[in-house]
Amino acid sequence: MTLKEALALPKEEIGTLRADLKKRIEERSDINAYIALDEAGDGVPLLIKDNIQVKGWNVTAASKILQGYVAPYNATVIEKIENAGLAPFGRANMDEFAMGSSTESSFYGKTLNPHDPNRVPGGSSGGSAAAVAADIAIAALGSDTGGSIRQPAAFCGIVGMKPTYGRVSRWGLGAYSSSLDQIGPMTQNVEDAAILYDIISGHDTRDSTSANVEYAPVAPNLNPGRKLKIAVIDNYIKDAGSEVQHAYQKAIEALEAEGHTIIHKEMMGAKYDIAAYYIIATAEASANLSRYDGIRYGNRAEDPKDLKDLYLRTRSEGFGEEVKRRILLGSFVLSSGYYDAYYLKAQKVRHLIKNEFENVFEDADLILSPVAPTAAFKFGEMADPLQMYLSDAYTIGVNLAGLPAISLPIEKRDDGLPVGLQLIGKHFDEQTVFDGAMSLERAVAYEKK
Ligand code: GLN
Repeated sequence: MTLKEALALPKEEIGTLRADLKKRIEERSDINAYIALDEAGDGVPLLIKDNIQVKGWNVTAASKILQGYVAPYNATVIEKIENAGLAPFGRANMDEFAMGSSTESSFYGKTLNPHDPNRVPGGSSGGSAAAVAADIAIAALGSDTGGSIRQPAAFCGIVGMKPTYGRVSRWGLGAYSSSLDQIGPMTQNVEDAAILYDIISGHDTRDSTSANVEYAPVAPNLNPGRKLKIAVIDNYIKDAGSEVQHAYQKAIEALEAEGHTIIHKEMMGAKYDIAAYYIIATAEASANLSRYDGIRYGNRAEDPKDLKDLYLRTRSEGFGEEVKRRILLGSFVLSSGYYDAYYLKAQKVRHLIKNEFENVFEDADLILSPVAPTAAFKFGEMADPLQMYLSDAYTIGVNLAGLPAISLPIEKRDDGLPVGLQLIGKHFDEQTVFDGAMSLERAVAYEKK
């Protein structure tokens, strides 16, 4: 059942819907998409990534350090979904503190890709994506700092959308990199994504980076018949795997057949995106994660000798390896002597990346881009952290520039693994992003089963 259908159900049928869903979730516990099956309220069930505050829940960002922490309030998005007749239903597995591209770093163990149990579901919102793909969630919320909604959506064959930075309130989202993080919908199709996007969007005075710009709902105005100018970045696609290149060609042909105009562009390339991102994101993370000190939240080391020992052991025992690596990297790039050479320079590069997107958007309504260089990789395949970072090449530029983008499934490889692509739009032009995505979705007619 789609989100649209579930929201149209008479109230008395929602109990049955919830009971059926619960049964299916229990039957597919092998996927490990859910950290826990917590329930709040009695509305249409929505799976929530474990870094979004739901009052009374043990929200942990899949980290050991937040064991025992109970969220004292609801994130703004949770208030909004509840007002729309939805209810938080289950905590979705994820990479610890949303740092990762595979959901392998969760304290609760890895999530399996429903298409192949030997492969990752992507990350960091891997639990959300796997659950929607396996039909054990109607829809889910994820968060996207550098691709964490779009890449797992592509790996699992579902739709994932990152809104313009500032469109959705971050109040109550566990901060990873505050200038990049956005919450967004992960759904079975484009229309559901538009519906959920409308529900969670809007200005919020509790988030100082929330945009106070006029907002018209997109779902009632969806128009896949609009003829758009869509840019393809020729030098970008060259480095992608053959399955991604194949899907790209298919999408271009489908878009042309729908009457859209394809234009060809070149962009600086992803290596600058990766360098800038892993400096800015780790710098912000090192500051954001300093609050987990064993005093105010969650887990605390036992029998500390003194205060320093308490901090040191709480953090050494509580954080996983990847999180520690990033805190160290972030502290390094912010430290005196390196600040100008790394952090300040990365901010300048970020500006260039933003300008470059703006230049392309002078001639185009949307950009078509890969989401990841390949389809879902195998567990352990990206054991080298740098290799894993490099796999974020296509998604992080969008976050650095603050743009909206949607990832949708295009086709399947011969072995059944989905391949997704993304459409990137102008700031606050989500309407065009959804219109184009709906047109592409119809044109490629991806078969779920
Ligand atoms: N894979 C990227 C990272 O590890 C993006 C994560 C995210 O978007 N939360 O930082």
